[in-house]
Amino acid sequence: MKMYLHDPYTTNFDAQIVTTIDNGITLDKTYFHPEGGGQPADRGYIDGISVADVQESEEGIVHYLPENTFHEGQPVRCEIDKNFRLYCMKSHTGAHIIFGAARKLLKNVRYAGFGIGKTSTRIDFGTGQKIDDNVLLEMEYLSNRVVLENRKILSYFSDEVEKRRLKDMVYAKEMPSGRIRVVEIADWDIAACSGTHFKSTQEIGLIKIIGKMKLQKGVTRIEFKIGDHALEECIDEKRILQDTAVLLKTSKREVTQKINNFFEDLKVKEKQIEELRENLTQKELEKLQETSIMMGEYNLYIGKISSKNPKELGLSSKRMVEKKDKSIVVLVADLNKTLMLAASCTDDVKIKLNEILRDVLREFGGGGGGSPTFFQAGGIATSYDILKKRIEEIILRNM
Ligand SMILES: [Zn+2]
Repeated sequence: MKMYLHDPYTTNFDAQIVTTIDNGITLDKTYFHPEGGGQPADRGYIDGISVADVQESEEGIVHYLPENTFHEGQPVRCEIDKNFRLYCMKSHTGAHIIFGAARKLLKNVRYAGFGIGKTSTRIDFGTGQKIDDNVLLEMEYLSNRVVLENRKILSYFSDEVEKRRLKDMVYAKEMPSGRIRVVEIADWDIAACSGTHFKSTQEIGLIKIIGKMKLQKGVTRIEFKIGDHALEECIDEKRILQDTAVLLKTSKREVTQKINNFFEDLKVKEKQIEELRENLTQKELEKLQETSIMMGEYNLYIGKISSKNPKELGLSSKRMVEKKDKSIVVLVADLNKTLMLAASCTDDVKIKLNEILRDVLREFGGGGGGSPTFFQAGGIATSYDILKKRIEEIILRNM
């Protein structure tokens, strides 16, 4: 007999062994809840021997033990791990309350899964609607209000007539055939469920929704904590907010405003930095105009530029050779570990930039491309001085 369906609070009881199957035994009555419907198997002891697992099979509720020294007809003393049972009861009842809240907030909600984990529980909702953070907040608020209201929870067995009334409110994926067990939270939620639940909502203590995740199109998983675990989560969240407020030198309520102000300031500062950098690049380019190196008949302008923008570097090199004769411009940007370059030359230069610079890339690594008069490359793994020396040597060799 599944006694846990009628009295989930009893955790100590006497029973008699009906059958023994290998390491499993069945009892004439049991309060042990088997694994099923998202609820893990109860833990506990039978005559002091730890119960490894509890499963429901054709033989009934089978209690598995590490070794079976029992015989049929033997009276035994059973003890269920009360804390774990209470945790499961809280989680199961909490799930029904959250489901009721979801029905109030979302259209056409259907049950898509449930599972009690070590410290948190998941419920999978089928709904076409998007469940955003505000919906979750409202769901958490409504659920905890139902807890505080201490609504009655009824568990009873129902027949076919009653099932018609429940048709849209069933908790299981499909309405089971025959008699079903109904769990009803007064004026809030009705479901078909064979788990263990409390008699009133306040026994749960606290519900804390901790997250959501989209499982597939139209199915969202919500994770929540219950009782002590929920309390720890609340304290953790408060600690995070408190630390953030200290870091920002403000009060908890002003945190969002302060962060917004930081972002606004940052935007202004980034713009200022960009303007300064553009000015600096301009100055560097002007200075470079005056420092050409004679390479035979050609003028080589080579220098380091602050700009890290490849497009800007390329355009600057092109602009520099405009209105010049027999000139080669090589602009190099230092990207910490590698160098980036843009090179341009006037049409009267016989050296092909794409040929000579490809040789440079072959030597130092990096990638790039271009034409005889324009070449751009990045990822060059050497220092500026070595690169400069090598480019000068190659130009001289190709004269
Ligand atoms: Zn349930």
